[in-house]
Amino acid sequence: MVIKTDVLIIGGGPAGSYLARYLVRNGFNGDVMLIDKKSVIYAPIICGELLPSEDLLKPWINRDLYNVLLTTLRETLRREFIVNEIRWLRLVINNRDIARMPFRTYVIDKAAMIRNIIEDVINGGAKVHFGATAIKCAVKGDGYECLVHDKDGGEYVINARALIGADAYPSIVDLSLGITKGFRAEDLIIATSTRARGKYLDDEAVIVMDPGVAPGGFAWVFPRGDGTHNIGVGVRNNIAWKGGSPINYHMLFVGRYGLESIQRSVLMKTLPVGGLLNRYGIGNAYLIGDAVGAVIPTNGAGINPAMITAHLLGESMIRGYDYALLMNRLFRPLMDRMVMFRRIGDPLLMSRDAMELALRVSRGYMAGSIYEATLSSMRTSTFLKFLIGNLLIKLISSLA
Ligand SMILES: Cc1cc2nc3c(=O)[nH]c(=O)nc-3n(C[C@H](O)[C@H](O)[C@H](O)COP(=O)(O)OP(=O)(O)OC[C@H]3O[C@@H](n4cnc5c(N)ncnc54)[C@H](O)[C@@H]3O)c2cc1C
Repeated sequence: MVIKTDVLIIGGGPAGSYLARYLVRNGFNGDVMLIDKKSVIYAPIICGELLPSEDLLKPWINRDLYNVLLTTLRETLRREFIVNEIRWLRLVINNRDIARMPFRTYVIDKAAMIRNIIEDVINGGAKVHFGATAIKCAVKGDGYECLVHDKDGGEYVINARALIGADAYPSIVDLSLGITKGFRAEDLIIATSTRARGKYLDDEAVIVMDPGVAPGGFAWVFPRGDGTHNIGVGVRNNIAWKGGSPINYHMLFVGRYGLESIQRSVLMKTLPVGGLLNRYGIGNAYLIGDAVGAVIPTNGAGINPAMITAHLLGESMIRGYDYALLMNRLFRPLMDRMVMFRRIGDPLLMSRDAMELALRVSRGYMAGSIYEATLSSMRTSTFLKFLIGNLLIKLISSLA
């Protein structure tokens, strides 16, 4: 069987669903089809489900990008999707409380939010197929064809004039068409996710920097307001598999930080933290969301970034703008800064001793720079202190 459409979006997460809705709402001239390999819309969830409040990032990111962020938030985050309001960020380093800082964020019901967007997409006239996995795609004439397996064992082909990879990293669209160079192992995180109980405050998100349990990343506790928490660890891919499974790190975190898992299985997923990929598309095939590397490298936030890239591609497709130009002007500067910040901080993230040394040099600078990294920002003064501090630590470590 061969199905024809004008636009095929592969992946119905924040990126793909947002783009599909943008196109149907803004009068895209053509058929839109969205497919996703999940049988149930956006379940199971592998995510901390933390989103910033409208004001949190305003002082920290440039106005044009902030405006796009605000639009994506306003168009997706309805009151009923908020399960808990967070006021504080508690920073824990190597099992010690280091700082408590203002942090107005929300823990959301991400699946409900995505379901709502998908409903709009269907009501807007797009075709949506769940339980449909894109196996490979290729150029065909002046468009593309993709082989799709459905959950009942059938297979069919979809022909499309434009093809969108919104299927996270690595994207089947990227792998099939060779759009980008991909990421190196050290630019990927393996992140785990589960629900847990433990004595953590309801209005406080906790970030744990402890290379003993989350080498090359961090662990988190995001309270849901009912005594349960979304928890997980992010471990750098080049280390994650050395001691067996990355789930071992998750279990270490649960054990050492007074948590008790209430979900039978620990889920995990690859998350890119190497900044935006070197290209965003080729011909009429484009990448958005995790598929293009749109995850803030210092904090792993990818829901809003996915929607930002979808918004920019949607604008390009409706108004004839150049997606690459929009991405380079609005989003790449922040992403490049954040990946540089992450790379400078890597030696600290990899070693408990280096982390201890850094704490001895200055708790204040550690707390301040990690806070800014969490807010997707980096003031020049912070950057300089962070750079000098890290050089000092490298020097002292090499002399010790
Ligand atoms: C453990 C963990 C915790 C996180 N916590 C947070 C957080 O608290 N806040 C935050 O902002 N971000 C968080 N993130 C990041 C965030 O979840 C992602 O960046 C975001 O969901 C990316 O959206 P996306 O649409 O690009 O990809 P996804 O949400 O991954 O959606 C991709 C979709 O594509 C589908 N798909 C994949 N391959 C195929 C295929 N071949 N054919 C058809 N469909 C396919 C998948 O089923 C999926 O539904 C976290 C990530 C992880 C792993």
